[in-house]
Amino acid sequence: MQTMATKRDYYEVLGVGRTASESEISRVYRKLAIKYHPDSNQNDDEATRMFKEVAEAYEVLSDAQKRAAYDQYGHAAFQGGMGGGGSEGYDVGDIFEDIFDNFFGGGRRRGGGRRTRRGADIKCQVTLTLNEAATGVNKTVQFERAETCNGCRGSGSKPGSQGETCRRCRGQGQVVQSAGILRVQTTCPDCNGVGKIITDPCNHCHGKGQTAKRVELDVAIPAGVDDGMQVRLEGEGAPGPNGGPNGDCYCFIKIKPHPLFKRDGMDLFVEVPISYTQAALGAFLEIPTLDGPDKLTISPGTQSGQVIKKKKRGMPDPRSGRRGDLLVQTYVEVPKRISTQEEELLRKLAELENSNVSPKRSSFISKLKEYFLFF
Ligand SMILES: [Zn+2]
Ligand SMILES: [Zn+2]
Repeated sequence: MQTMATKRDYYEVLGVGRTASESEISRVYRKLAIKYHPDSNQNDDEATRMFKEVAEAYEVLSDAQKRAAYDQYGHAAFQGGMGGGGSEGYDVGDIFEDIFDNFFGGGRRRGGGRRTRRGADIKCQVTLTLNEAATGVNKTVQFERAETCNGCRGSGSKPGSQGETCRRCRGQGQVVQSAGILRVQTTCPDCNGVGKIITDPCNHCHGKGQTAKRVELDVAIPAGVDDGMQVRLEGEGAPGPNGGPNGDCYCFIKIKPHPLFKRDGMDLFVEVPISYTQAALGAFLEIPTLDGPDKLTISPGTQSGQVIKKKKRGMPDPRSGRRGDLLVQTYVEVPKRISTQEEELLRKLAELENSNVSPKRSSFISKLKEYFLFF
């Protein structure tokens, strides 16, 4: 359910004025329902969302009582979800979820009016080093998955036991509910669409029809994946009840922090220490990259904190394969210990600096003086 804050106005959803007649609302709804119907918008999440939104708006605006409540209180009239405020006691969302199951291949009908459902999607996780993420890698993942019980082949009943025909749906596995102008068949809540109630449960699965099993799978992880991305393993999710198709398994990527490189999308960032003399005089440095050590030239007068870009030495984009950049940030490292000779030279340098203050520094010092005088 959308939150109140982001919920669109029902009149706006249908594109009608607040004084629209009942017949106008019906006419517009029919048009929109056809336009966003999941049948003609396969795999289009936005259309599915619109379809639900339109149905919900119609559900309220086509009912004089609900419409009056909505006109007065807005969405707050139905706080706690549609149907919660009304007297029907069903959830529009549930009913539509069910329709989508039907349209999206989840609920293919099987003989006798019963239907099977697609199994649940499950998750697993794989942890990679940054180098593995950069090159792509094959990984073995382990996770627990429900499997159809061998003892009862998924029926949940002891072999030989047929169970009892469900009274609520009279064995059909489906019950009819209405939502707006639509009359919808939904899965029977008593028997979960099986049409039968288990009377003598299977010993292995205690009537569930499924047992948990540890699964091991090889996953090809493409180059360039980032933390939190998912690789979809089609058909590796839980099996559908009553022989329905498996759901999918989503393998979540986790990337270990690297001791040197920080990542920002496709770019990598590394800090490299340089000495005062290297900063002042320029230098050839050896820097780490993902592909091994590389050379970097820094020019004389390089500042502490300056960033030098090494093009196309970052991470590859998982789709295009195009590589990001490596951003090298230098910082001037001050030696903690120095030799006697170094100290002598530095003292000479200090004398030279004092008698020969550069313009930039003098302006800095005078600014500093002004600053302290000011307070
Ligand atoms: Zn069983
Ligand atoms: Zn039933």
